[in-house]
Order: sequence, then structure tokens, then C-alpha cells
Amino acid sequence: MGGAKVTLHDGARVAIIGGGPAGSFFGIFASKLARDMGKALDLTIYERKSFVTHGASGCNMCAGVVSESLVQTLALEGINLPPTVVQCGIESYYFHTLDGSIEIKSSRLSQRGIATVFRGSGPAGSVAKGIQSFDDFLLQKAIEHGACVKRSFIDRVCMEGDKPELYSGGNMLQDCDLLVGAFGIKAGTGKMYEDIIPGYKVPPTVKTAQSEIELGSDWVAHRFGHSIHIFLLRIPGIKFASVIPKGDYITISVLGKDPKADHIKAFLNHDAMKKFLPSGFKVPEKFCHCFPKISVGAARKPFARRTAFVGDASSTRLYKDGIGSAYITAKAAAHTALLHGIGEKDFREYYFPTCKSLNRDNLFGQFLFAANHLMSVVSPISRSYFNIVRCEQKSLQKNTPYSDILWDMFTGSRCYKDIFMRTLHPWWIIYLLGAVVIYPFKKAVFSFINR
Ligand SMILES: Cc1cc2nc3c(=O)[nH]c(=O)nc-3n(C[C@H](O)[C@H](O)[C@H](O)COP(=O)(O)OP(=O)(O)OC[C@H]3O[C@@H](n4cnc5c(N)ncnc54)[C@H](O)[C@@H]3O)c2cc1C
Repeated sequence: MGGAKVTLHDGARVAIIGGGPAGSFFGIFASKLARDMGKALDLTIYERKSFVTHGASGCNMCAGVVSESLVQTLALEGINLPPTVVQCGIESYYFHTLDGSIEIKSSRLSQRGIATVFRGSGPAGSVAKGIQSFDDFLLQKAIEHGACVKRSFIDRVCMEGDKPELYSGGNMLQDCDLLVGAFGIKAGTGKMYEDIIPGYKVPPTVKTAQSEIELGSDWVAHRFGHSIHIFLLRIPGIKFASVIPKGDYITISVLGKDPKADHIKAFLNHDAMKKFLPSGFKVPEKFCHCFPKISVGAARKPFARRTAFVGDASSTRLYKDGIGSAYITAKAAAHTALLHGIGEKDFREYYFPTCKSLNRDNLFGQFLFAANHLMSVVSPISRSYFNIVRCEQKSLQKNTPYSDILWDMFTGSRCYKDIFMRTLHPWWIIYLLGAVVIYPFKKAVFSFINR
């Protein structure tokens, strides 16, 4: 099935389709490792977008939260995000429900470990704001490590013998020893591989809605602070919405069933959100918005002889830290290619376990998000939970297990299995059930006394 052993020799040609985080990370790690091994690679990243333009054409459409664990891991790799890339350092999460709001800080977060970034050079119309795109920053790092970047849309890949050949607009651009599919899920490029790579299937996706609104840096800092705001408001068609502060702008991400521009407007016009907007704020006629797909599953068989898929085109963490997953999969694929080989067997043995571990963890994530959704729609449970969390937040020096569960789920800073195991602690369940029973009882007693 895999054929004779194939490896990346000195001067081997590597073609990466997609210059988002996964493509750049692969370029960085493969070049670094090759150099350490005394080899040189002829490595080209093909990217259809220019990340120095504003609006959708130069943007990879995402909420742009770089997780605590990724910020720290990148720093250890010598990749420090500069102030022009980081729009805001995050210190806390706010949860807003119909029963009130609560701020959650983690007892563990000792410094500004979470960063918000723009994936492009800023929203449509944001001319000359001095914003550097996160994706452009990573792409420049890949170039520094020796990768060459070409601005082309790869619309066809063929196998000539056992080597992949890349085409754009009818022209053959190159053949290669290794093809890396880092094209994400937003462009629909993955479908073309289902025909040429036996067994590969793109991950399942759902549509999201995303918008960027300019409010001015003073207003954003004053009303949203260094916090990510999660709104669980039971607006029809919206599961939850998050608001992320970024300099002059806020980024709104809406998750729901087939979200549309009207859902963004309904959210902005909701009383709970209006409190955060300047008085008399009106949703502009034209505002920067898009409907990117988000992965909710895993690709089937993300590898073949001389081919590996990384990032969203392979496996990614459910709803969280997709950029962190791009880092993990790209690094594992680069190490496999250089240390073990580029045959199907090599990727199956050394790369695929990384994807499977992300996929298994997502099963726990699915359970946690379903439980969170249930809790947010059943008032007595959400009120009780938030009451416990409120008490914990008064003293962050102590253990804060209930806050940490929410924090870890929404920041993506721990694996879902670890969070799930913590929810199984008997005290967790007893205390929560106790609170669910005691809260209505206390309320009934108070209303009886105050009659
Ligand atoms: C609404 C929303 C919010 C999100 N929020 C977050 C968040 O806050 N934090 C986080 O970590 N993750 C978040 N994610 C997930 C994150 O966007 C992805 O996991 C991450 O971008 C994956 O990186 P990637 O490089 O695999 O793919 P992408 O970022 O999609 O990059 C793929 C690149 O390939 C290029 N490309 C595609 N096809 C071709 C082709 N044929 N030829 C040339 N170029 C091509 C594209 O132009 C693109 O630049 C969010 C996703 C969505 C939809």
C-alpha cells in the first residue's frame, strides 16, 4: 500500500497549499529541523490571499483569540507576538445571561497570557490603523526560516507517477516530493483532494457569523476592558455570541443554526448588549461581516504517500484554539516527514496519532458544550452555577474548581478530557445539585418573609 520507503532528501521540494497558521507553522518547523539535520529544503507556500489588505479579501475570518497555552508555547519557540499584532491582552471572561453577569478570572493566570489579534490587516475600511495581521506575521517568520511564498490559487493537483503536481489557471507550477495541504476549510479546496487522495474526506463544518464594529479605542477599553464577553441570551437562532475587544474595534462571533446578518443585528439590538454600546448606537448600514465555516469534526485519513494535511484540513479542537491545533498538527507532520519519512506508513504511524488524540478529546468537548448549553437554558441550574462561581471569584487565592471549569472550556487552555474528569468529582456534583435545590428554597423563604 505505501510502496518503497520515501524520505525528504537534501534539496527536496516541499509545496504547501495555504499560508494560514498551519501552512506557516509547517514551513517554520520543517525548515528549522532540516537545518538542524544539515539538510536544505526547497519549500514553497502557495497562498491566494494578501494579508496586508483590509477586509475579507485579506483575512482568514476568525475571532482571533490566541490561547494562553499557544502564546506561551510560541514564546518558547522564539516567536513573540509584537504589539502591532496583539490588539488586547485578555485577563478575564465575562458571562452574560438573562439572570445577570459574572466575571471570571483564573487563579492560574498570572500574566496577560491570552492575546487578541486580527487575522488580516483589519476590518473593511480600517485604513492606516497600524494593524499587523497575525497571519502575515507568521508568514514572514516562515520566510525568515527560508520558505518562499507565492501568491497563487492552486486549483488543481494531479499525481504524476507518485509525485504531486500543482496547477493554477491551467499552468503547471511545480511538482514536489511532499505536498502539505494547509488550505483550511473555508475555501472549499479540500473537496478536490477527495478525488485524488483515496480515503481523504474533509471535516464536517457548520456556518458561523462574524462581524467587526468600530467603537473607538477609548470606548472599547472602557466598556469591554481586557475581557472576552460571552453572551448566553436565548436569542432565537443563536447558541451563544462572543465579543472580543481589539483596539478601536470589537469582533462579534455568533454560533447558531444558520446564522445570518439579521442575527448579528438582533444581538446588537438586545438590551443586554445595548448596555455596552454608546447611547444612540445604530447598526451601520454597511458593516464588516462574514460567514466563515468552522470545523466540527475531523478529516478522514489526513495523509497519503507524499501528502499530509494539517490544521483545519485535518483535525482541530472543537470551537476552541484552532490556531493552537494548527500548531500541533503542523509540528507533528513536519517532524514525521523529516525524522521518519513521507510514506503513507510513516504518516500513519507517527503523525496520525496526534490527530486521533485531538479527535478523541473533542468527544469530551462535545459533551461539555452540550452540558453548558443545557445549563444556560435551564434557569435554576445556570443561576445556581453562577452563584457558586460568584462566591469563588471573591477569593481567587483559594481553589476555584467551578470557575476553572468555565475558564478552561472557553479559553481552550486545557484539554477537554481533563475538564470533563474534573466535572466527575463527587463534590462538584453534590454541591451543584445542592445549590439547585437550595436556591429556589431560599428564594421562596425570602419572598414569604418579605410579604
Ligand atoms: C467564527 C470563527 C471563530 C474562530 N475563532 C478562533 C479563535 O478565536 N481562536 C482560534 O485559535 N481559532 C479560532 N477559529 C478557528 C481558526 O480560524 C482555524 O482553526 C485556523 O485558522 C486554522 O488554520 P489553518 O491554517 O488550518 O486554516 P486557515 O486559517 O483557514 O488558512 C488556510 C489558508 O489557505 C489558503 N488557501 C485555501 N485554499 C487555497 C488554494 N487552493 N490555493 C492557495 N491558498 C489557499 C487560504 O486563503 C488561507 O489563507 C475560529 C473559526 C471561526 C470560523
